[in-house]
Amino acid sequence: MPRELGKIFEESFRVLRPCSAIPEVRVEFFAFANLNHTIRLRDGRLLVRISDLLKGAPESVLRAIAHILLAKIYRQPIEQKHARRYRRYIASQRICRLVLLVRQLRGRKRMFSPNGHVYNLHALFDDLNTRFFGQQLARPQMSWSTDQARWRLGHYDPAHNAIVVSRLFDHPRVPPYVIEYIVYHEMLHLKHPAKSCRGRRSVHSADFQAEEKLFPQLEAAKCFLKCL
Ligand SMILES: [Zn+2]
Repeated sequence: MPRELGKIFEESFRVLRPCSAIPEVRVEFFAFANLNHTIRLRDGRLLVRISDLLKGAPESVLRAIAHILLAKIYRQPIEQKHARRYRRYIASQRICRLVLLVRQLRGRKRMFSPNGHVYNLHALFDDLNTRFFGQQLARPQMSWSTDQARWRLGHYDPAHNAIVVSRLFDHPRVPPYVIEYIVYHEMLHLKHPAKSCRGRRSVHSADFQAEEKLFPQLEAAKCFLKCL
């Protein structure tokens, strides 16, 4: 394990829990498919995996993530200065680009047919593209989701340039304007990319929201979705 990383964790531990004996700490960089870190206590040993995207990060950032992970596992409050330092670093352009790249290369996205039982996502996209976008948007990959998750109507994934819509809405009792609104919303994500990928992220910018209001049955669609 990188010796300095182990030392940083031991020092953070001492600050957080001055009266406890320091457990054996094993830290390694790990090639997660995203900006993830994990910490576990096993047989009195702390096992830590830090995303390899933080390799080469400034020491203050490594200290920040050490504090955050230790505070989490020992259920202590996270100090603001560390939270802020970490957030600022991962919101930087360089890290954002790296995260996107790594998700493309390491992440697998399960895509299914755009053709549902009731609705065809390609047809919906093409129709909306003509009606609202002057056919200016290039069609991304489109798929119905595997599960029927309600909590997520749909999402646009920039790493895989894909729009996924919850299969729940591929149903005869879902009016066309509702499914159109869901796809329209995701198309706006395609048109207005999020400004920063982590930290304080502006996903639904003012421009985004203004353009969303152009959808004629916006209120009716939102009402239908609320009543689900
Ligand atoms: Zn959205």
